[in-house]
Parts: sequence; C-alpha cells; structure tokens
Amino acid sequence: MTAVPYQQILAALRSQFPQPVSDPVHDAYFVFSILRALEQVDALKGQAPILGAPTMPDYAAAQASRVAEDPQRLEQVIPTLVQQLEGMFIWGHPQSQINVIPHPTIPGIIGVVLASTYNPNLCSDESGRGVSATEVRVTAMAAELLGYDPAKAAGVFTFGGTGGMLYGLKLGLEKALPGSMQRGVREPPVVLTSEHCHYSVLNVAAWLGIGYDQVIHVPTHADNSIHVPRLEQAAREALRQGKRIAGFVATLGSTDAFGLDDLAAIHALRERLVGEYELDYRPHIHADAAIGWAWSVFNGYDFVENPLGFRGRTVRALAAAHRRIQHLGLADSVAIDFHKTGYAPYISSLVLFKSRDELQLLARSKESMPYLYQTGEHHPGRYTLETSRSGTGPMAALANLLLFGKQGLRALLGHVVEMAEVLREQLESHPDLVVLNGENVGPVTLFRVYPPGVDTFEIKQQERGDPARCEDLRRYNELNRRVFQLVHAEALQGRGVVISLTDCYRHTEYGEPIVALKSYVLSPFAQQERMRDIVEHVLAARDRVLAEAHNSV
Ligand SMILES: *Cc1c(COP(=O)(O)O)cnc(C)c1O
Repeated sequence: MTAVPYQQILAALRSQFPQPVSDPVHDAYFVFSILRALEQVDALKGQAPILGAPTMPDYAAAQASRVAEDPQRLEQVIPTLVQQLEGMFIWGHPQSQINVIPHPTIPGIIGVVLASTYNPNLCSDESGRGVSATEVRVTAMAAELLGYDPAKAAGVFTFGGTGGMLYGLKLGLEKALPGSMQRGVREPPVVLTSEHCHYSVLNVAAWLGIGYDQVIHVPTHADNSIHVPRLEQAAREALRQGKRIAGFVATLGSTDAFGLDDLAAIHALRERLVGEYELDYRPHIHADAAIGWAWSVFNGYDFVENPLGFRGRTVRALAAAHRRIQHLGLADSVAIDFHKTGYAPYISSLVLFKSRDELQLLARSKESMPYLYQTGEHHPGRYTLETSRSGTGPMAALANLLLFGKQGLRALLGHVVEMAEVLREQLESHPDLVVLNGENVGPVTLFRVYPPGVDTFEIKQQERGDPARCEDLRRYNELNRRVFQLVHAEALQGRGVVISLTDCYRHTEYGEPIVALKSYVLSPFAQQERMRDIVEHVLAARDRVLAEAHNSV
C-alpha cells in the first residue's frame, strides 16, 4: 500500500467520469476509449459465430477474485472487460441460429449509451425528465401498434417479459381478490394458461403467493395453441368450485415453437363466463406476446398485393401469424420484449395496460414514500414494483421504432421467416428429416433426424401417440441429442451453423418428452445458402453417431 494523499487519487479518478461541463477533448477521450474496447473485441472475431475460442467460463478463477487495494487505469480495465466476452456467441452471425436472442442495432446501443451516461431514473419525472416522456412515447407508439387506444392505455418498462407477467397477474390478482394488496392473498385464485406457456407463469404465480398448484395448464392443439374448449372446461370447473380467476394467460408466440393462442376466443369465453356466473369482477386477460408482438407491424399490410415481395410460403406464414396477432388489443395487459423480436439490447421490455385507470389498483399512497415525488407530475414509481428504473430500455426501444418504422420491421421479420421457410423446405424434402412444428409460422423450426430407412411419413404420429413406440422414441431422442453435440462442436470451430436443442418440445400423449433440434433464425445476416448447410451438417453428424454406435457393439 503506497501512501498518497487522497486528492491525488481523486484527481486521477475524475478523468474517469464524463465531464460535467463541456470538454470536447475529454469527450474524444471517452469515445476513443469505447473504440479501443471495440477494437479489442474485434480481434476476437474470426469466421466462427463466436468471440475468441470456445471456452468454458472459469468459475474457479472467478471465485478467487477479490477487490484490490489500488485503483487500476482504464487501459488495464478495458482488456479485462473484453476478456469477459470470450466464448460469447455472436447472435447476429449468419451461422448463428440458437435462440430468440437478437443482434442489437447501433441506434439501440446508442440509446443505451446515452441513458447510461446521463443516467435518468424513471421512478419519477423528477429524475427521468425527457426520458420519462420517452417511456410515455414508446408506450403510445406500441399501444397504437398493438390495437390499444393510446389515450387510455398505460405502460411501464420492466425487467423482462417475466416482469410483464408479474404486472399482468398482479393486476389480475387484485381484480379477483380486491384488497389483497392490503391484506395479502388469503384464498389463492387460479391462473389458466396452456401447457406451452412460458415458465414465468409458474414463477410469477409462486412469487405472488398464488402458488404453482393453482396454475392450470390446459392442453394444446398440434399447432401448440391452447385448446379453447378444454380451457372453457377448466374455467367452468374452477368457478363451480367457487374459485376465483386471477387471470387467463394467453401465449402469443410460444418460446420453443411459436404457438399462437386464439385470443379472440379466450376473450369471448371470458365475457360469457362473467355473464353466466354473474361474476363481480372481470377475470384479467394477460397476453404474453414477448415474442409475437412484433408481428403487429403487419396490421394493415396487404398480403394479397404483397408489396414487399415475400415468397409465397413466407406471405402465407406471415398472414397466418397476423391472423392471431391482430387481436392483441383484446387483452387487458400485454407484455412485449423489444429485446427479442425488436432487436434492442437487454433489458428492453414493456408491459402495456389497456386501461390506465386499472393501474390505480396497484398504486400506493404518496404518504408511504415521503422522500419521493416532491416535484414533477408523472410518477410511475407510485405503482411500479421497482423503485429505481433504468432509462436504457425505453431509449433503445425508441431508437429501433424510429429506425425501423413498420416497413423496416416487416422486412426484418419477413426475412427471418423466409429463411425459416427455406430451411423447412429443405428438411421436408429429405426422407430422414421431420419438421415437428410444421403448423407454426414463425422463425423457429423444430426438427428431428432419424436413421436411414425409418418411415418418416408415419413416425411423427406414432411417436406422439403410440406407447408401444416408446423405446424407439427414447432411442431417437438420444440420437438427436448426440447429433446436436456434434453439430454444435463443429459449428464452434466455424464449420456449419450453431443451432440448439430442446429437451422437451412437447410431451407425447403418454407423457414422454420429445427432444428436438431447434433453429431460431433472428439475424438480419441469415443467408439462404447457410440454411442448406444445416441439412448437410445434421445428416453428416447423424452418420457419424450411427457409425460410432455400430463400431462400439
Ligand atoms: C422470453 C419469454 C418470456 C420471458 O421474457 P424475459 O424477457 O426473458 O423475462 C416470457 N414469455 C415468452 C413467451 C418468452 O418467449
């Protein structure tokens, strides 16, 4: 430890803050430092869709880390930060089709940088100022896009689609059991959703004190959308037992398969039940559109004229998705992730409420927060769960909504769906490959590979329904797992495309999980030729797995 007067340390550290008064030379230093960091990251790029070499994170080294006595210089800090990125997938790489993780746009990143630099806090417009208005602005834009009346709607940015789910069900809980904000949840109500809902429904139910056991998972159709007559049965059963309904959760764009629930039918069902059972509340409908919301840019698109010139299969897929998405405005709340299909960096998630007035159900009194809200007029902190909220989400969202407009997002989504359709065409034309979610119309394709000679015309139905085929199902599950591992390892070396695996695309009718290979196309850089490579690589990997298995007997 060296003895230096604190002023000396302070003086050095001052240069490490953006300057509070205009100092263009220092701004140049700031920007140049970012550039240096980017240059070092660039040195990690090769042909493969990964930064640096494929490495596993070193948790032992991470555990051993401690805070040092002395400060480090920026030049020392940057390489350490850059190192942390080693082994990261490059989501936007044409050979990356891993999951619903976007490659953020430059304006989106600038939105984050500006908000991070000047650090608005959206708790109140005392501290958020124009960025608080940005949240209102993006809310209005998104509300109109989805089919809400922007004059009546409200919205808050929160910590993900999961946060949106929490807000939606919290509001539903308060509607079903008025006063539970005050007195707690005394008799837990039920939540009705599909077996393909996101697991955040369970998580949120648990965290809200509703409990896993009160979540009713209704079966789905082959297109992975909720079976509405079965939903009706479940809702009636619950009401007959005197239970209250905290919410219907509709999934619009399920995570693994892009299943789209029939919101119009769910809404009609809710209306019917309210009348018939003379309910003294309207069970809340939350639409989990974390992924699907973006398709609302196709409201107003002329699919017949098809002015953007998408291929036939693609127009069909876009129109089919739009058929369900156009009803989003019927939900009482909708969660949307700009950090998925909106190409914004994490976290940029908005939960929209159809009626601003309903939000008052979650508001606390001003007296309970004496140190806040002395000035200003817009105080979302009165009803948000969070106290401090970052301005990065709304700034990134605004950046992308301005950058894309409706046409831009139509082109991006159209492209990724087109690439998925190209892949499906390839898969369908090969006798050993089967598309599992053929009835879904999004950018994600679930498929399986089989040994040569398997009758793949029959196999999908057999695997799903026939318990006698259980042994085969398990064997082919294992085959697909091993194919995935080979394809993955090769792709990390730059050969082929990084795809992913889902351990349970859905269950068979007799309860076994069906493993599937998964291609999630989201990159604007995705290319047609690469889609063809996937088929080749998967088949080659299958042959190797089968040969190894053969040799080992
Ligand atoms: C991703 C996802 C979520 C969770 O959103 P986060 O932003 O990751 O919290 C919820 N629902 C669906 C359908 C999703 O795909």
